[in-house]
Amino acid sequence: MNKNQQILNEIFLRNKVKGKYKFDYNLSKYSWFGIGGNAEIFYIPSSLEELQLVLTAKEEGIDVTVIGLGSNIIIRDGGIPGLVIRLGNGFSNISHDKNIVFAGASVQDKVLSKYCLNNSIIGFEFYSGIPGSVGGAVCMNAGCFGSETKDVFIKAKCLSNQGELIEMNYSEELFSYRKNNFLDKYIVCEVQYNKEIGDPAIINQRMIEISDQRRDSQPQKVMTAGSTFKNPFGHSGSKAWQLIDKAGLRDYKLNGVSFSRKHANFIVNKQKDSANLIEDFGENIKQQVNSRLGVELEWEIKILGNR
Ligand SMILES: Cc1cc2nc3c(=O)[nH]c(=O)nc-3n(C[C@H](O)[C@H](O)[C@H](O)COP(=O)(O)OP(=O)(O)OC[C@H]3O[C@@H](n4cnc5c(N)ncnc54)[C@H](O)[C@@H]3O)c2cc1C
Repeated sequence: MNKNQQILNEIFLRNKVKGKYKFDYNLSKYSWFGIGGNAEIFYIPSSLEELQLVLTAKEEGIDVTVIGLGSNIIIRDGGIPGLVIRLGNGFSNISHDKNIVFAGASVQDKVLSKYCLNNSIIGFEFYSGIPGSVGGAVCMNAGCFGSETKDVFIKAKCLSNQGELIEMNYSEELFSYRKNNFLDKYIVCEVQYNKEIGDPAIINQRMIEISDQRRDSQPQKVMTAGSTFKNPFGHSGSKAWQLIDKAGLRDYKLNGVSFSRKHANFIVNKQKDSANLIEDFGENIKQQVNSRLGVELEWEIKILGNR
């Protein structure tokens, strides 16, 4: 065990944590690309209180990274230094009162969407097609088909990397296109959303439409992380896939990595040699799009860890 691992091991033992932890733990199964390096210290806390305790006890120099369902990340081969947190059952509550829907950060977006359908709550249909978690959605301002997380978000209970409990409230500046402008160094633990009652038949119909559209336009059952690059002009202007297509790169392949036949902005990974090859493919595409069209693509996928 190295020094960081000894420090955390001592904190885990001293506090008799109920959560799970491992050292030098491979994260391949926590990325939708099916490959990735190790976490120096991997921890699934059993509750917010326990996580707060561990973060408060930890030394400031130890990095903290949180991962959700891994549907929007590349974990580089060199692994993620410090403490890697994945929220599990201790953060999976879902409920509502008269005006608010509450969801723990580990709740799957599609579970939240189904829950809202079952309770005639409208506005959450778009989550039925997003394969991430509530925490990941707040981080990415996840959205599709004209709706985004910011449209339903009221506030989130978050912990700082030092264990300080804060409330992140909705404001105009909080979210932008596929981005939370204030989330660096915070872990989303629980989210509150606006509740609006609607007609379940309409909600259900909308969810069916979203599912049909996804089946037609996106690859299924492949190792992908959704849209690779942000649309460079946000919601208006050319989309990233159109630029990739226009640059003649739709069929480009490199070391077992290519774009989906169905969607030219979805990378499909077919190899198990290296997560870095996925990043290399994307960097190669960025460079070629820039030199051919003069447009700088920006990664939507988050790239974590060391090469
Ligand atoms: C087939 C497919 C289709 C997709 N379609 C869409 C789509 O239509 N619209 C869309 O917006 N996205 C889409 N995505 C991308 C992805 O599902 C979303 O970005 C999702 O919100 C990521 O959530 P996650 O839990 O998987 O997060 P991860 O991929 O694990 O992490 C993504 C980022 O969120 C951070 N994060 C995760 N949990 C927390 C937390 N609790 N607190 C703070 N930060 C956290 C991580 O540090 C990381 O920076 C798609 C992906 C796939 C594979």
